[in-house]
Amino acid sequence: MSTYSIIQELIETIKVYNLKGWSPATSTNYSFIDENMQMWISRSGIDKRLISENDFIPIDKNGHFIGENPAIYPSAETLIHTSIYKLFPETKVILHSHSVYPVLLSSIKKNYLEFEGIELQKGFKGVDSHHTTIKIPVFENSQDMSFFEKELFSHKSKLIHYCFVISKHGTYAWGNTLFEAKKHLETLDYLCQFEWFINQK
Ligand SMILES: [Zn+2]
Repeated sequence: MSTYSIIQELIETIKVYNLKGWSPATSTNYSFIDENMQMWISRSGIDKRLISENDFIPIDKNGHFIGENPAIYPSAETLIHTSIYKLFPETKVILHSHSVYPVLLSSIKKNYLEFEGIELQKGFKGVDSHHTTIKIPVFENSQDMSFFEKELFSHKSKLIHYCFVISKHGTYAWGNTLFEAKKHLETLDYLCQFEWFINQK
């Protein structure tokens, strides 16, 4: 898939998610790797309702902007993206969401979220039955991005469902295609909604 068509599809996805309330107040960030293995990430401080192809900037493997305009800088959470690409080299797209249900659930659950017996668990790649227990890691929030790099590398074996939650912050999900990454993010969000409401009984 060409860089142009990935960006177009990604923009469409971001705008849909924005309408769902998943990226309030210019928050969240998105990245992809194009056919030339170039990494691109959304710029910081962009209203996701208005995001365009010019709002993606090329970065190197360490998250540094490849360019000379000092007014343009990548998202503050770039190091999380580069860590995921390093850990799972087959990844091509990473989506970040501030949808409220995972955030709510992470305020009452520590270390991991657990789901069991829900049909949509099959939305995660490789899960073919709802008769399973799914555990999604929850990491503490931090302003120090190198903290996440260390956390992700030390918990690699637990990141088997292509997503994780940052406590009282949001979710990250990834995939080998945008289609896969969307599926993982939307599955996680649905499961968190389910779990949140069932806990309110
Ligand atoms: Zn965030």
